[in-house]
Amino acid sequence: IVSTAQDFGFFYFVQQWPGSYCNTAKSCCYPTTGKPAADFGIHGLWPNYNDGSYPSNCDPDNFYDESKITDLIAAMQAEWPTLACPSGDGSKFWSHEWEKHGTCSESILDEHSYFEAALDLKKQVDLLQILKGAGINPDDGSYSVRSISRAIKDATGFTPGIECNVDESGDTQLYQVYICVDANGKDLIECPVYPRSKCSSSVEFPSF
Ligand code: 5GP
Ligand code: 5GP
Ligand code: 5GP
Repeated sequence: IVSTAQDFGFFYFVQQWPGSYCNTAKSCCYPTTGKPAADFGIHGLWPNYNDGSYPSNCDPDNFYDESKITDLIAAMQAEWPTLACPSGDGSKFWSHEWEKHGTCSESILDEHSYFEAALDLKKQVDLLQILKGAGINPDDGSYSVRSISRAIKDATGFTPGIECNVDESGDTQLYQVYICVDANGKDLIECPVYPRSKCSSSVEFPSF
């Protein structure tokens, strides 16, 4: 039985720090449209259940159609750049995100509304500005995860999820920030459940 009811609980709005995607053993490739800004980029807007599990690939018939979002492409190139290799223009990343995650909230957000909602959330939650405002700067030593989390809570009102990964030298670093959003795709909420953080108490914030 294919689940068509959009019965998820909330969205994770996930932003990735490009410096931490690129300085790993796997490395990265810049988009064909050029090196992205040294700023957080969108990874995705992911429907999730309140128990931490999540639906995926909910509607194989609702394939990604770029002609529905031509007005958003310039903003997506800037705010949702792909860093995977080989270099691409972003279409492959966006189509993966729509088909894996977006189709699981299609009754609430159609394709255009889905990408627009993510872009609006990026404007609403300017992580780099929030962190810099709290004295947390890329390439400037290491920071406690508590201080990073606190800065984002003070600015948004809600405690984020913080995910870390490991650079080429084995040092743990800030990789992704998860912000919880109501099933309408607009309002921030307290997270019903947090992702596994993989962080140590103190983490690096590498430049990009
Ligand atoms: P990873 O194995 O890197 O943690 O996750 C791989 C992919 O699984 C992510 O890019 C994302 O598509 C999906 N994923 C991982 N964790 C979560 C989660 O907590 N919620 C949702 N909705 N998707 C997730
Ligand atoms: P983990 O070991 O982090 O729990 O998950 C490993 C992989 O399993 C992740 O890359 C993620 O994509 C997938 N995964 C974990 N939990 C779920 C889930 O509830 N639903 C789906 N579709 N995939 C999951
Ligand atoms: P997920 O399933 O984890 O949401 O999405 C990860 C998929 O998107 C992988 O197949 C990965 O290769 C691809 N991808 C393309 N560009 C990026 C990027 O900039 N960051 C991440 N995390 N994955 C990307």
